Amino acid sequence: AGRLDGKRALVTAAGQGIGRAIADMFAAEGAEVIATDLSVDKLDGFSGVVRALDVCDSDAVVALAKDVGSIDILANIAGYVHHGSVLDCDDAAWDFSFDLNVKSMHRMIRAFLPSMLERTAAGGKASIINMSSGASSIKGAPNRYVYGATKAAVIGLTKSVAVDFIKQGVRCNAICPGTVRSPSWEERVAELGKEVGSAEKAMEVFVSRQPMGRVGEANEIAALALYLASDESAFTTGTVIPIDGGWTL
Ligand code: NAD
Repeated sequence: AGRLDGKRALVTAAGQGIGRAIADMFAAEGAEVIATDLSVDKLDGFSGVVRALDVCDSDAVVALAKDVGSIDILANIAGYVHHGSVLDCDDAAWDFSFDLNVKSMHRMIRAFLPSMLERTAAGGKASIINMSSGASSIKGAPNRYVYGATKAAVIGLTKSVAVDFIKQGVRCNAICPGTVRSPSWEERVAELGKEVGSAEKAMEVFVSRQPMGRVGEANEIAALALYLASDESAFTTGTVIPIDGGWTL
């Protein structure tokens, strides 16, 4: 039997990286998965239901919630890494990052929670999983000024939702990865490579900050998301879980 048999799950930013690994793993464990991404073509070949979704578009989020109907699991994975310090972050960059990394989760939860509550009122168990980062209220990371601020906000949002709906059978937890191999991370390595001289040197910078001496794989993060999505974690809510090769140790 699958660990998510009988559950319906929606994943944002499921086109690639951690979101894709989560959508694949949820589907492999028996969930009916609605995989969404800004670029729907990235979802070609996905086994479940596929929908285009820009998590910054409030109307689209509300329309999707109507279209999709009720769900048991919501994985809010969409996020963007702005590179730089406070001096590199103008108002537009600040607003973009908060819109995509934080307000997106507010929109998604507001739109989908009512249907989750219907299911829990009928005896179901619901789980919301928000993608934060070690770069957040846990740790200051160089040149992750607004990114760290947004991911800290995700932790506050997560705990607020967790406490408000704890009696109604909806759990809400945050995952805080260290550096994880993904298409956008490969781009960040290439960018840093231009600054430090080579892609190999840039890779060393990322790897050396993780005491385990390697970056994580998307599947390793997906395994934690699977646990949080399943009823195995029924006693866990409002938690902030680092999964980072010892980065924040
Ligand atoms: P990624 O950055 O490679 O892919 C992001 C996906 O988001 C893409 O498929 C893109 O099309 C989609 N997307 C972009 N804008 C969108 C929008 N407005 N609406 C919907 N989808 C949109 O993936 P990743 O590196 O695995 O990161 C996924 C999440 O994990 C992010 O929230 C990121 O901050 C977080 N995270 C990543 C790492 C890492 O090292 N990779 C570490 C900590 C946290």
